[in-house]
Amino acid sequence: MAVPKRRTSKSRKRKRRTHFKLSVPGMVKCPQCGEMKLSHRVCTECGYYKGNEVVND
Ligand SMILES: [Zn+2]
Repeated sequence: MAVPKRRTSKSRKRKRRTHFKLSVPGMVKCPQCGEMKLSHRVCTECGYYKGNEVVND
């Protein structure tokens, strides 16, 4: 069985982990109100989609 020759150092481990980040996928900025919203969905803040008001609160 293959065994690592050297222990992975703290800095090497941390550098590797810079690539995995917490992120919510498919979030875009709403052009109407500037809030973050899911793409291809009506904005939950202002109820706009593609420039027209779709949902009235
Ligand atoms: Zn909005």
